[in-house]
Amino acid sequence: MFDNISNENKKAILHIDGDCFFVSCERALNPSLNNKAVVTGKERKIASALSYEAKALGVRRGMSINEIKRLYPQTIILDSNYDVYINFAKRMYEILRRYSSEVEQYSIDECFVDLSGLDKCFKLSYNDLVIKIKQELERELNLSFSAGLSYNKSLAKIASNWNKPAGFVNINISNLKYYLSKLKVENIWGIGPSSVKVFHRYKINIALEFVNKKEDFIKNNFQKPYYEIYQELKTKYIYKLKTSSKKTFQSISKSETFNKNSSDENFIFSQFSINIEKACAKARRYKLEATSVLFYLKIADFKYEKININLENHTNIDIEIIKVLAENFKRIFSPYLKYRATGITLKNLKEMSGRQSDIFYNHLQTQKLNNLYFACDKIHKNYGNNSIYLASSMNSGVDYKLMNKDKKNNSIPYIALVD
Ligand SMILES: [Mg+2]
Repeated sequence: MFDNISNENKKAILHIDGDCFFVSCERALNPSLNNKAVVTGKERKIASALSYEAKALGVRRGMSINEIKRLYPQTIILDSNYDVYINFAKRMYEILRRYSSEVEQYSIDECFVDLSGLDKCFKLSYNDLVIKIKQELERELNLSFSAGLSYNKSLAKIASNWNKPAGFVNINISNLKYYLSKLKVENIWGIGPSSVKVFHRYKINIALEFVNKKEDFIKNNFQKPYYEIYQELKTKYIYKLKTSSKKTFQSISKSETFNKNSSDENFIFSQFSINIEKACAKARRYKLEATSVLFYLKIADFKYEKININLENHTNIDIEIIKVLAENFKRIFSPYLKYRATGITLKNLKEMSGRQSDIFYNHLQTQKLNNLYFACDKIHKNYGNNSIYLASSMNSGVDYKLMNKDKKNNSIPYIALVD
């Protein structure tokens, strides 16, 4: 049933996940918050992180602060303090790199560590090695972490999630069947609420039913990402760790080469819009903001027109950058030339400060915009990167429906700001 490479030749992948990370950081600095219902996100007027005590009351992530105050007045509501969280995260990664050079920073408080072969280096069993790492993290940072160890990222993530908070689970050949038999397919990493219907259609409700299907059946009836998950659940190592130092981007670039050269202003602006949208989404994912931006157009004869703009306020909000582009578009675009590609580079990236941006449009309050992007990023995470997109990207000719991860759903343009 499972991949038959011997246990010894398999990878040892550790997933580490900070428990209620933002709140835990606050507690590490201010222990009087311990054992209380605590929520961060006051500055955005929505709960961005919550303590288990808050969760137990009924507070949910994304709930409005006003609602929390009304329904659960005992909750302590704090401004997010990103500088502090980033600092804790950096220290967490420093500790993990003492053990392995192969560390993938998956998010601010989550990472994968390749421990393969390090049991021999440290003369410890993998279990003891993980316990040592976990204790070191908890002792030095005064935060609690959940750890999961297994043969690949998917199984390690299931393992760390199993016994939260502060748990450690090792999923291996001897107990794998047990864990898969208890796991609903919608709780498998990479299977979102929209794709779960496909599984239910084939009467697959739990992970074990999924791995029990024949390989050909999965290949024929599911898209590639699900076949990859299937293989991982069968203990294969498919998803490589992304260990390059991507988190310390100096800049983020996105470009698009057109199918054919164009001098259509709307089309070209729209292509820029796509680049900006993608680059900003990435910047938000890594909690970075640009302080300047380079726009460029590649002309048919391979020359470039480019313009570098210093932003008044650092940002990772696409519509702010699109506004800057709109103001400067005529400086690089000429209707008499044919272009073959657009590109943008977000430059001089800084860690997000959690500040309030202040060059928003009159009809959209700062708060609404923050909430909007919080929601959009969540939708992208759950339903695929192209499930919703800027209306200013609509004239790009890109078929969003085809690009959508779940092709059965239509993609929706969600905001229109620049004509
Ligand atoms: Mg976490």
